Amino acid sequence: MKISHIEHLGIAVNSIEEALPYYENVLGLKCYNIETVEDQKVRTAFLKVGDTKIELLEATGPESTIAKFIENRGQGVHHVAFAVEDGVDQALAEAESKGIRLIDKAPRKGAESLNIAFFHPKSTQGVLTELCEAKIGS
Ligand code: ZN
Repeated sequence: MKISHIEHLGIAVNSIEEALPYYENVLGLKCYNIETVEDQKVRTAFLKVGDTKIELLEATGPESTIAKFIENRGQGVHHVAFAVEDGVDQALAEAESKGIRLIDKAPRKGAESLNIAFFHPKSTQGVLTELCEAKIGS
């Protein structure tokens, strides 16, 4: 697979409203989009940092994987997302052939309607890893 850059870092927070003042007022970053991804039971807020982004993730209910993550490990870095230039489905097939356990067997739509897929942290040295379709013109 061909990875161009870190697309974003996903950070689990109790509340986007409580977390944003740190990122905006202290770090001086700007939140440019907040959206809810219903099927993942998360609310996301995006902030640009040069060519990469911070994605704040807030659970929309107790069944959310973000709620479970915070319950087990507290707030903090949740996943690293890499932008792949040659297609998420192709990258998934390659990773699986190299023994990586996949959470998503096929790409699905994430925030900003980009194709995404996750590798299981058990086969990535403990880091939940997301592949993200490179956004044209971003
Ligand atoms: Zn993400």
